[in-house]
Amino acid sequence: MSPNLRKELEAIRKEAERKGWRVFRHKKYWKLYCPCPKQCKKNMALTPSDPNYVTNLLGQLTRGTCWKEREGQ
Ligand SMILES: [Zn+2]
Repeated sequence: MSPNLRKELEAIRKEAERKGWRVFRHKKYWKLYCPCPKQCKKNMALTPSDPNYVTNLLGQLTRGTCWKEREGQ
């Protein structure tokens, strides 16, 4: 995994925490839980092999959860 990708994943994890999401570490991935009543959740791989992983993950977070809705809160 490239240092850049590692940094990007770290940034997403930090942003999740800033948004009030709960973040749990599992063996191969992070589990991200949204604080909203819908309880959105998303797994994030620790060492993804897909170079587009971060782009895809952010797309899924934006479309499938309230990641963006809570912006600025
Ligand atoms: Zn949510």
